Amino acid sequence: MMLGQKRMEIEVLRIGQRVVRDDRVTTHVALVARSFGAKKIYMNEINPEINDTVSKINKTWGGDFEIEMIDDWKKIIREKKNMATKIVHLTMYGQNINDIQTKLQNEDKLLIVVGAEKVPRTIYDTADYNVAIGNQPHSEISALGILLDRIQQGRQFDLKFKNSERVIIPQEHGKSVQMNKLTD
Ligand code: SAM
Repeated sequence: MMLGQKRMEIEVLRIGQRVVRDDRVTTHVALVARSFGAKKIYMNEINPEINDTVSKINKTWGGDFEIEMIDDWKKIIREKKNMATKIVHLTMYGQNINDIQTKLQNEDKLLIVVGAEKVPRTIYDTADYNVAIGNQPHSEISALGILLDRIQQGRQFDLKFKNSERVIIPQEHGKSVQMNKLTD
């Protein structure tokens, strides 16, 4: 994503959520995706409350980040591949992010796939890039945050989230929040 130039289109696909156990992690994956400049997340409808959480966050803090509940993640990957979107699978078995980040920065459209439990073999074969954020196991939340930062090189933090009720005015100490009156 280049500010002042055409912005890279980044979406996230969350697969394999374990019922209840992964709710909080999935919510955090969505929040990182939103705040680090992705435009949408696809996920299985395990916990519909996440829709509420994200729409409240959008209302308060702005932007139009979307969630789409899906039945079949393979269909999403097929559709995206047909639309020339590159599939990036986050896995500790992949290529070191340090070696692959420049290629990723030069793509136009990315779908980033993050897992929960064991990820099916087919994703490793279908992905255009299997990317490791280090070759040690950690978490999909940290892996996604670091990947989005490496791709956008910090520019995601200059993004303005439109139509927010609140805007934080950064302070050296303390908190300052500007309240906006929204018109429909
Ligand atoms: N054991 C699982 C497997 O074999 O796929 C990994 C489970 S891990 C808790 C959940 C997700 O976090 C993974 O599917 C991957 O997307 C992400 N992840 C964890 N460590 C990672 C790493 N070092 N690099 C990239 N992604 C990672």
